[in-house]
Parts: sequence; structure tokens; C-alpha cells
Amino acid sequence: MRDLERLWQAQNLKIKHKQLKEKARRESNLPLLKKEKAALEARLREYKLRKNRLQSLEKEVKARELDCEELSAKLETLTRQLYDDEHNNSKELQGIEQKIRMTKEELSQCEEAVLNLIQDQEELTAVLRQEKEAIGRDKKDYEERVRQYQSWKESINNELAQIEAQYRQLFDEIDPELKEIYNRKSKLLGDTVVAVVENATCSGCRLDISPVVLKVIKKQNLSYCENCGRLLLYRED
Ligand SMILES: [Zn+2]
Repeated sequence: MRDLERLWQAQNLKIKHKQLKEKARRESNLPLLKKEKAALEARLREYKLRKNRLQSLEKEVKARELDCEELSAKLETLTRQLYDDEHNNSKELQGIEQKIRMTKEELSQCEEAVLNLIQDQEELTAVLRQEKEAIGRDKKDYEERVRQYQSWKESINNELAQIEAQYRQLFDEIDPELKEIYNRKSKLLGDTVVAVVENATCSGCRLDISPVVLKVIKKQNLSYCENCGRLLLYRED
């Protein structure tokens, strides 16, 4: 294989490598996965806050139930006082009746408060159960997508490594003088330093190549496009 042909192939591999890298960057799910991760973490934090709220609700229920028990005991004592022999005085009895009415009212309010708290507790428990299931499902989905992303990334990296290896192998075999020209020209021309002659035109700039230059190239001698300055490769096929 001629060095210029090698150089052209190496150049194509370099372009392919660059394009694949760019494509991978465009098609990467990583930014999306990062957003999903952040959203899942925010949901977990919210879940924990609500779980704490549920625990304090449970404590509140217990405390209010104790209050109710105390009021019940007080009511029992008062009722006993109403019928025992120690409290006979009618004024005293009226006072006890008054206390009984107030205690009954307090007890009823206390019991209602307990019921309301239990209702809140049950509603929150149901919401938390659903949310826990939903988070679990979404986390599983997310982890599956992470695995898919990792294997996708791995195959891209393998492909890039293969292209790189092919490129190095080709480039290493090229005459140092030609490589020197290539490196110098790539500073001006970028990725395409070598152009192919197609129907007497330069594949780099699409302009006609003069007959004089064509003659030189066809003899396999090094020559440049008079218009864009690219190295011209003549391929017989
Ligand atoms: Zn040209």
C-alpha cells in the first residue's frame, strides 16, 4: 500500500472517530439519567419527611388517648360521688353535676380529636404505601436504564478503541516526511488534508484539477490541489 493511500485511510479513521464521539455525546442519556436520579432522591427525601410526620401523628394519637382515659376515669369518679353517701348537700350535688357535664363535653371533644388523628394517620399511611411502591418501581426502571446506558457506553468505547488502534497501526507505517507534511497542513486544513481525485476534480474543494497536476498525480507523485492545497490521491478502481 502506498503511503498516501495509508494516510488517506488514517485520515478517514480519524474523521470516523471524531464523528462517533460526537454522535455518542449527542445520543448520551447521561444528562437525563442525572436528572432522574436527582428527582428520585428528592422524592425519597419527601417520603422520609412524611414518614416522620406519620410517626409524630402516632405519638399524638397515643397522647390524646391517654387524655381521654384520664377524662373517663374522672367522669367515673364524679358519677360515683353523685350516688355515694358522702355528698348529700344539694349545692354540692349541683356542683358535681356541673362538673360531670363539663367532663362529658371535654371527653367527647377528646374522642373526636382522636378519631380525626386516626383518620389522618390512615390516609397518610395509604399515601406513603403508594408512594413507596411508586418509588420502588421508578428506581428499578432507573437502574435498568443505567445498566443499558453502561453497556451502550462500553460498546461505543470499544468501537472507538478499535478505530484508534487501526489508525495508529496505519499512521505508524507512514513515511515520517509525509507525516510531517500532513501534520503541518492539518493546522490549516483541519481533518481533511488528503483529498481524492474524482472525475478530475478534488474531493476536498470540488474544483477541477489542472491537466498538468493530473499528469503528476497519475504517475503516483506527490502533488497538491492548486485551489485548496490538499494532498491529492489518485485511486485506480
Ligand atoms: Zn482542492
